[in-house]
Amino acid sequence: MSTDAPIVIVGTGLSGYTLAKEIRKQDESTPIVMVTADDGFSYSKPMLSTGFTKGKEADELAQASANAMVEQLNLELRTYTTVTGIDPHAHELVLGDERLVYSKLVLAWGADVIRLSIAGDGQEHVYSINDLVDYRAFRNALQGKKRVAIMGAGLIGCEFANDLRNGDYEVDVIAPSDTVMPGLLPLPAAEAVRSSLEKLGVRFHLETVVEHVSARGNGVNLTLGNGETLDADLVISAVGLRPRTELAAAAGLDTNRGIMVNRALETSAADIYALGDCAEVDGHVLLYVMPLMACARALAKTLAGERTEVKYGTMPVMIKTPCCPTAVCPPPPDASGNWDVDADGQDVRALFKSDSGEVLGFAVTGRYAVEKQALSKEVPPIHN
Ligand code: FAD
Repeated sequence: MSTDAPIVIVGTGLSGYTLAKEIRKQDESTPIVMVTADDGFSYSKPMLSTGFTKGKEADELAQASANAMVEQLNLELRTYTTVTGIDPHAHELVLGDERLVYSKLVLAWGADVIRLSIAGDGQEHVYSINDLVDYRAFRNALQGKKRVAIMGAGLIGCEFANDLRNGDYEVDVIAPSDTVMPGLLPLPAAEAVRSSLEKLGVRFHLETVVEHVSARGNGVNLTLGNGETLDADLVISAVGLRPRTELAAAAGLDTNRGIMVNRALETSAADIYALGDCAEVDGHVLLYVMPLMACARALAKTLAGERTEVKYGTMPVMIKTPCCPTAVCPPPPDASGNWDVDADGQDVRALFKSDSGEVLGFAVTGRYAVEKQALSKEVPPIHN
């Protein structure tokens, strides 16, 4: 390995760019090369599910071009370049036929959307939206259309449902669960969001799945497991994400649900780090912005020579369903205790309390959503 080799960051999502910005705060000149499979535009991914509510087209959600980022961050950026392998022993990244030497390598290459294999000839009308490129394609396809079916009633499915109603589209949501966001919200809070979305005009088809997508005219006809059929112009598949681990595993790095790293963001291979949606940090896979920001700050210090461990505080998630403002801070998965619920229609305050009465998590909707900040102070941080 050459000692003047650059720090190489794979991925120009929020993780990659936030890390590059944090490195530049410490040091203006260490060579950095960023590699990305996409166009390298800088954008805030959470904005993708607010386009209609905020009245923005896909291109208006892009904050800076690849060239602007190169200038701003004084680095080399290789766009439309897909990493195909890692050679940890040689300290080289494999880009097809080419090899790129690194001094330190940071994997910030995100998560893949889960694609269901559904029968039928209407697949070309099914869209997954996990980046700006996907969102552009979806918005282009939506021109002149009226009806959107969404597979999945998780956070992303619900946010798109609210946003598309705000854009005056007809929206059907199909999901196997009996309510929305089942893994994230306790039942009373989930029901507050679901009923608010229904009042907004979203039609839910719960406890069933899409079994067949057939092309019909310029759109599709969906057959559901419960025997129902419905027509749509476009389908959004929002059934979940899976951290990208394959290339890391193939290179011999330890992987589990994500690429396994310790609190210093170190993988099991020397000089290789990971953060963001691809990483499992000290056992936590948190596909949100707050954790990746904390990781980027810690990792920038480590890369500058001061080994620093990330410390996760309390990390509430705001759900962008303006028809029912919602914030949630899930309790630890192994926590023992009960939900203590105060509910009045759309307004729900659910506190997860330990047997000794300590608040370990919360979900607040409607008028209680403003209590997010105060409640966050009561919940113990993820890392003590
Ligand atoms: P990504 O943004 O996915 O970036 C991955 C990068 O890696 C891309 O540049 C990609 O091109 C590149 N890449 C991948 N594979 C390769 C390869 N083999 N070679 C080269 N490059 C590669 N979180 C919140 O906290 N709050 C919210 O309100 C919120 N809303 C969201 C709304 C939507 C619609 C979505 C989809 C997510 C939302 N999230 C939200 C989650 C949050 O946006 C993500 O956790 C975060 O953006 C992940 O950033 P990342 O940089 O780790 O990954």
